[in-house]
Amino acid sequence: MDADKLLIQKFNNQTLVNDFDIKLLKSSDFYGGYISANKRLYKEIPNNAFFKNILKESIKGVPLVKIGSTGEKLMVVSGVHGNELPPQLASLYLINYLLSQELNGTIYVIPFVAPNATMHNSRSFKSMDLNRSTLVEGSLTNIIFKLIKSQNIKAVGDFHSTGVNSTPGIEAVFSSLNPTAESYNIGQFISKNIGCKLLNYPKAGDNYNGALEDECNLASIPSVTCEVLSPFGYLKKGAYQRSLLQMYSFLSYFDVFK
Ligand SMILES: [Zn+2]
Repeated sequence: MDADKLLIQKFNNQTLVNDFDIKLLKSSDFYGGYISANKRLYKEIPNNAFFKNILKESIKGVPLVKIGSTGEKLMVVSGVHGNELPPQLASLYLINYLLSQELNGTIYVIPFVAPNATMHNSRSFKSMDLNRSTLVEGSLTNIIFKLIKSQNIKAVGDFHSTGVNSTPGIEAVFSSLNPTAESYNIGQFISKNIGCKLLNYPKAGDNYNGALEDECNLASIPSVTCEVLSPFGYLKKGAYQRSLLQMYSFLSYFDVFK
């Protein structure tokens, strides 16, 4: 698969073949933000009514886009770290692509986990690293984790970006072998499929506490974290296309595309 094929062809004559639904995550707090205030991200978002609607919803809270209504449920998450821009842009393209494809499955996409953090181009939200706080009651990742469990989501892909001098500092997929070996299988599939490094750990939670991926794997929900290279707060050229390929590859593992 070539990333170009996943990008928007023509909005105007695109036929939407799937149902879609945008909801806001239920939370007791205000989590919205103006994505348009993040100039580096906003200027790359195609001007299209559907995307505008997602951005509008993001002002009120965390948008949850559901595409399709058949088969197994899968989730694609981005923006757990608000300053990691490529996956957040990629997820919008993914939504657009999914809307035009016959699907074997129901895909939940959260393009901006913390719109307010994205607005401020900030890694943390309310001084919290959301990828270390999945078990913190009421945190955004905790709300998502509970939704994953209550909706019986079969697998979760969490998409990030990393600077060269940060961790992991390379394009990679994180997975673990125990207790949910399918995490490793998915990681290996993506790694081979698109040619990026596999960073597999023997046991989920060994390296990080409270990461969404680890907590899903510990709860027997297969999950991987995918990273592309781009400086924090910026969109490196070509990075969102790599992130989009990772997302496509994650979904392909489950034979989502007919
Ligand atoms: Zn991250």
